[in-house]
Amino acid sequence: MKVIIADSINEKGISDLKEVAEVTVATSITPEELVEVIKEYDAIVVRSRTKVTREVIEAGSKLKVIARAGVGVDNVDVQAATEKGIMVINAPESTSITVAEHSMGLMMSLARKISIADKSVKSGQWEKSKFMGIELNNKTLGIVGMGRIGSQVVIRAKAFNMEILVYDPYISKEAGAEMGVSVVDLETLLKESDVITIHVPLTPETRHLISTREMEIMKNTAFIINCARGGIVDEDALYYALKNDIIGGAALDVFESEPPQESPLLELDNLIATPHIGASTAEAQRDAALIVANEIITVFQGGSPRNVLNMPVMDSKNFKIMKPYLDLSEKMGSFMEQATSGNIKNMDVTYCGELSEMPQQDILTRTMLQGILNPILTEPVNLVNAPSIAQNRGIIVTEGKRCESEGYKCIIKLEIKTDKDEFSLDGTYVDEPKIIKINNYWVDVKPEGTMVIAKYQDLPGTIGAIGTKLGEHEINIATMQVGRKEVGGEAIMVLKVDQSVPQSVIDEVKKMDHVEDAVALEF
Ligand code: NAD
Repeated sequence: MKVIIADSINEKGISDLKEVAEVTVATSITPEELVEVIKEYDAIVVRSRTKVTREVIEAGSKLKVIARAGVGVDNVDVQAATEKGIMVINAPESTSITVAEHSMGLMMSLARKISIADKSVKSGQWEKSKFMGIELNNKTLGIVGMGRIGSQVVIRAKAFNMEILVYDPYISKEAGAEMGVSVVDLETLLKESDVITIHVPLTPETRHLISTREMEIMKNTAFIINCARGGIVDEDALYYALKNDIIGGAALDVFESEPPQESPLLELDNLIATPHIGASTAEAQRDAALIVANEIITVFQGGSPRNVLNMPVMDSKNFKIMKPYLDLSEKMGSFMEQATSGNIKNMDVTYCGELSEMPQQDILTRTMLQGILNPILTEPVNLVNAPSIAQNRGIIVTEGKRCESEGYKCIIKLEIKTDKDEFSLDGTYVDEPKIIKINNYWVDVKPEGTMVIAKYQDLPGTIGAIGTKLGEHEINIATMQVGRKEVGGEAIMVLKVDQSVPQSVIDEVKKMDHVEDAVALEF
């Protein structure tokens, strides 16, 4: 096997690879040269300098693995690699400790005013009384997002004897208790914490998660730290809160625009800024090299690597059989993620009809998990890591098979139980993916575009009233289906609509007479 290392990585990673492969280190290779030589190699290792473009991938006739010794894969054309069945691997956990330590550093610096005191001494002053600090001992730390980095912060904050509150809607109270933290709602965390540190991905849900209202709830002595992504903390609101002593201080490693352009925040003494260096340590770089070297060795030895970002290799015959059901599973996972709320406890999948006899159904379960987990996690959940991520989050996944398939060739039944509700979907593939039952009510729905699902009491006027409500908000209904078991009983309505439906409209629908629940889905 031959590996080309196109960007400089830690020596130990290179020597590990040399034990199993012929390694070429070409860290100043040009894009043109890479296209020329790539055909000789089974694997390529890059950091961020080298772009693994479609042209490189198409020229790489022997290429099996593209390894990014780090986290982001913006420099790799993952789509092109997937099309050619080439694994793209990365090292998402390599920076977790490094970022957690940076967050702790900023916490100490805020508590003891270290950076501003340093500036003062260097400017020739000796202002001892100005820099009265606080201890972290016995203080309450609020962690928003307890994933890889948040969990590392927990370990370190415990050593400082801090009480820890966590807000993470995807972590159960039991999982929190195992880590020795209290899982609470955001409001409680904001109200009770002396220091708040953010470790969530930037998503539409987390954009400006901490804004004026949230800062007003916080203690006026509280500190806020953001080492996650710019935009999670609203910078205008933060400036106002710091300037007007609504909160005590803040530390930002990340900004809404980087570098921050003429931001008034940078003039404030109670704001510490670092230039997105949360992940910048020699150890993180070393670990990234070691992790990807190990992953490449695993692939060369015929094993399953942990951090594959795209499809694992499936032989072409099986892939052809499973492709329609992979598409269906992806839609069902995404449907479930949007339709359910709360912590997922159980996910039960049953493969019915011919599908029960087909190989590798496991990959369909993984695809559903991917659809459910991907929107809530920072690093892509892939077909290889989906089961272990689910397990770590306390989701019990079971798979079953049934010969009977209610007149269809194959059906996939997916049932989810969360700590708040239960939801079931039956899907099939007839020329295209279709949902044929929602919560055991028969429907015939193609999961595409925007849909509204409402659970209601089957009483005269309810359907019309929901339609009128959407009409009032200029939302046009394209098609409608109703599923019910008995007249006057509980029923389900599935509307396909032509416009996106804001959450405020869904909230209005939920408050209508005889409506039990409503949700909008986007595909
Ligand atoms: P992760 O995916 O392991 O964890 C994210 C956690 O956030 C998960 O537990 C998830 O359940 C939770 N979450 C998702 N949506 C949420 C919401 N709306 N409210 C509360 N919790 C929510 O991610 P990670 O590796 O720990 O990374 C965390 C953040 O750190 C990301 O934004 C990442 O981009 C950032 N990061 C920054 C640097 C840096 O240089 N400063 C380096 C690496 C990562």
